[in-house]
Amino acid sequence: MESVTSYFLARAAIIVVSLTVMEAIATISHRYIMHGFGWRWHKSHHTSRPSGIEKNDLYALVFAVIAIALFVAGLRWWPLWWIAIGVTLYGLIYFMVHDVLVHRRWPFRHVPRKGYLKRIYQAHRLHHAVTTKENCVSFAFVMVKPVDKLLRELKTNRQASLKADSPKRERPQHKNHHR
Ligand SMILES: [Zn+2]
Ligand SMILES: [Zn+2]
Repeated sequence: MESVTSYFLARAAIIVVSLTVMEAIATISHRYIMHGFGWRWHKSHHTSRPSGIEKNDLYALVFAVIAIALFVAGLRWWPLWWIAIGVTLYGLIYFMVHDVLVHRRWPFRHVPRKGYLKRIYQAHRLHHAVTTKENCVSFAFVMVKPVDKLLRELKTNRQASLKADSPKRERPQHKNHHR
């Protein structure tokens, strides 16, 4: 028979792994989907001041549907149930960090002045320093890079985008492609 300790340890381990994997999935989807082919939904989050519902919230809905599907599948295979708990917990942490702490979509005003919360806050602020699809930094939400590293990345991206812009102006005018 399974001991009580191993029962809880197995489930706690599944939750911890799920939380970590979710941060990786959120970071990768933010970098390659939201700032890629999914920019149409995410753009609202970079261009307008957060007030009320934005198109970007559809992503939260997608993750909620995935979590519900995992709970349903978990009725047949128990580990999926605990993965679903991990995914839901991540959603809550994401909401607290991203929507409440950074974007103040809740009547809660607190700017963290020290520690890891300050780093998370500043890292996501730096993500919003750029309002375009390209040249953004800091796609992670919880496991963020040090702020000084992000500032250097932001500087490099800005210089690269300036360089990418200038040859266009020098390009010869006679190549007109009319379709
Ligand atoms: Zn973004
Ligand atoms: Zn944001």
